[in-house]
Amino acid sequence: MGDGKYSRPPKRKPGLTLIRVVVAGAYGRMGREVLKTVWQAEDMVLVGAVDVRGEGQDVGPLWGAPEVGVTLQGELDKVLAETRPDVMVDFTTPDVVAENIKTALHHGVRPVVGTTGMSSRELEEIRALAGELKLGCVIAPNFAIGAVLMIRFAAEAARYLPHVEIIELHHDQKLDAPSGTAIKTAEVVAAARGDFRQGLPTEVEKIPGARGGSFDGGIRIHSVRLPGLVAHQEVIFGGLGQTLSIRHDSISRESFMPGVLLAIRRVMHLEGVVYGLENLLFE
Ligand code: NAD
Repeated sequence: MGDGKYSRPPKRKPGLTLIRVVVAGAYGRMGREVLKTVWQAEDMVLVGAVDVRGEGQDVGPLWGAPEVGVTLQGELDKVLAETRPDVMVDFTTPDVVAENIKTALHHGVRPVVGTTGMSSRELEEIRALAGELKLGCVIAPNFAIGAVLMIRFAAEAARYLPHVEIIELHHDQKLDAPSGTAIKTAEVVAAARGDFRQGLPTEVEKIPGARGGSFDGGIRIHSVRLPGLVAHQEVIFGGLGQTLSIRHDSISRESFMPGVLLAIRRVMHLEGVVYGLENLLFE
């Protein structure tokens, strides 16, 4: 049990419109952090929590608080029907996220999605559905402002130093590789440097995969998975007699929470899918 500091929702200004939030993947590492953050937000109310693990448990103890009166439930569809939220925040797994988003949209609920690993076909289906239903949806492979800036700076650097490799490092329970952030970085770098191909065509890998995954134009992406890591990435540029490294480290999951809060607030006023936090930050 914690010290009770998070046992009460924050004091709220009278007349403030509260955003009703359900969290999917609530038992997971990110889900717990989102539960705590939403619980503490003065303009939000946590109305439901969904996970296939921990069903029936009160969610307060998941972030070290006493019981708060919201219990984990297994079926998203049922929770959305019963609690009628404004927003569903999803930090689940690549195999269920697209279905969760569609379920939310069919209930008139706006999704804010951090789960990575969705296919481009799934993304297109969701774009079409959100557009048709005229509902906002934010999908961001990285909610940390520092990571968004890293990608922006990488795009700038790639115009002058087009030889690039990306090393991303995450905890060893991460399901997808490379990370959504690494793919996004490679896309942005490839677009910024135009028609360019790097690498030595005659090189030989003595161990398959030694040179990492190959993205468009020969951009190599290397994925490191180790306990102790959270989410980190280094983008290394090589030029004549010099290198430039742009590195971002999420040293705790708190790093993602300002971005998640921003997305919950902004999704209420959007129509259709916004992909990437940068499109909310640098419009
Ligand atoms: P985790 O494994 O700790 O949590 C995932 C949770 O989803 C688990 O508790 C699991 O039981 C639950 N789940 C699985 N199927 C479900 C279903 N059908 N309905 C409801 N819940 C279900 O993983 P994590 O470290 O919290 O990461 C979750 C996702 O978020 C991953 O895809 C990860 O890559 C991504 N992530 C994104 C960001 C970002 O900024 N966008 C940051 C960190 C992690």
